[in-house]
Amino acid sequence: MATQSSVRLHKMMYGGDRRAALDGASFDSLNPATSSVLGQVPLGLERDAEAAIEAAHRALPSWSRLTAAQRALHLRRVGDRLEAKRDAIARLITEEEGKPLAEAQIEMRLTIDSFYWYAEEARRAYGNWIPDPIPGRRLLTLREPVGVSCGIIPWNVPAAMIARKAAPALAVGCTMVLKPAEQTPITATAVAEAFLEADLPPGVFNVVTGDAAAIGATMLGDRRVRKISFTGSTEVGRLLLRGAADQIKRCSMELGGNAPLILFQDCDLDRAVAAVATLKFLNAGQACISANRIYVHASIHDEVSQKLASRAAALKVGSGLDPSVAMGPLIEAQAVDEVHALVNDALAKGAAALAGGSKLVEGDYARGFFYSPTVLSGLSVNMRMAHEEIFGPVASLFRFDTEEEVIAAANDVPYGLAAYLFTENLSRAIRVAERLETGMVGVNEIRIGAAEAPFGGVKQSGIGREGGREGMEEYLETKLVAIGVK
Ligand code: ADP
Repeated sequence: MATQSSVRLHKMMYGGDRRAALDGASFDSLNPATSSVLGQVPLGLERDAEAAIEAAHRALPSWSRLTAAQRALHLRRVGDRLEAKRDAIARLITEEEGKPLAEAQIEMRLTIDSFYWYAEEARRAYGNWIPDPIPGRRLLTLREPVGVSCGIIPWNVPAAMIARKAAPALAVGCTMVLKPAEQTPITATAVAEAFLEADLPPGVFNVVTGDAAAIGATMLGDRRVRKISFTGSTEVGRLLLRGAADQIKRCSMELGGNAPLILFQDCDLDRAVAAVATLKFLNAGQACISANRIYVHASIHDEVSQKLASRAAALKVGSGLDPSVAMGPLIEAQAVDEVHALVNDALAKGAAALAGGSKLVEGDYARGFFYSPTVLSGLSVNMRMAHEEIFGPVASLFRFDTEEEVIAAANDVPYGLAAYLFTENLSRAIRVAERLETGMVGVNEIRIGAAEAPFGGVKQSGIGREGGREGMEEYLETKLVAIGVK
């Protein structure tokens, strides 16, 4: 355990400078594998958020008037600096968030790639010359930045989430104030360093750490803020949408998921099981696109559940810094309790634990927040897991008989982020992909993300898209210019 005197105080960053909180307060960030204090960060409040918004507002005119090619150069430099810091930030992600180093490296690849990709895409945001029905007039459209944008992000993808918001925003000429999650603020300050090193004009990108409610309320209440981009729980998303209504701020929302994953009788079984195990235990199941409900056709159910259980039992759990570890800790003690409560609810209502099903508390595990990789079978709709997001390493298996029945079950939640299906039957793949009510569908594939791909949900999983061309649209307004011509 680190002593108070050896704990480093990291700084937030706005207006081109590293800053402490205006009233000097700070809070601890913990390593979830050991519960030791990793470092301290400023506990920003309303005044800190306001100062950062002021910096972003000041930077807006000159940043938005740069040519897209000039902004692209800046973004590329941020990408270069992140590339240089890649191993150090990956290690920090593992220490602060818990995911194994190999996963943190994949996150860094997406982080860096987002800056490079949007540096290219920055030059492709432009309007149209519209054929006019009225003689003596010309119609054209300009694409303009929304203005000062605020990003609020969760802890589970603490670096890439910054890139997914900041890169498209800055590419089109917006400036940004970003609030990281209270569990992973040091990673955000490390990413902010790359912006400083890249010599971005002061105020273009700002990070404020601290009190979520105070910072969020300041962002919502300030008229200079024109856009809120949020990733997190549906509950907080709803609260922010309500708050944004007062000033009709633009919003994009990446909210909770409850992804169905369907294994049809005609899937490539071994490939599918391997994919399910990878997806389910990635980041210890703490991902909004993790498979929440795994539907397995009755004819292959027992084979799938046994194979999945033996894969789960073989996973090495521990500190993500150990290269032989396949799954790290959960983010905090409360997360372990919540996962365990969902498991116990299912077990009490008749589910069976084929692997795991318990907190890991012996030996080194006692210091961190660990849960065993778990496979439950015999799930049914009366269990909480059928409706609630698990956010933990629990594969919950439902048995089904017909395509019709499984599509209805898959869609029977208020969420619609990702869905996955495994079948070697092309017609079935197309039929089912078309009928799933989600923003993304993986067909024989669990890797659904890329800098160039639109990520986002329907129903209560969100509004808008992040990534790809669509992600840039979120930060653009369209202005019509009608010109009289003599
Ligand atoms: P999770 O359950 O994944 O932690 P949350 O929605 O609670 O998701 O948190 C996501 C982000 O939203 C975090 O940065 C958190 O600090 C922030 N947040 C939580 N409550 C509020 C709020 N009232 N206003 C603004 N941001 C908030």
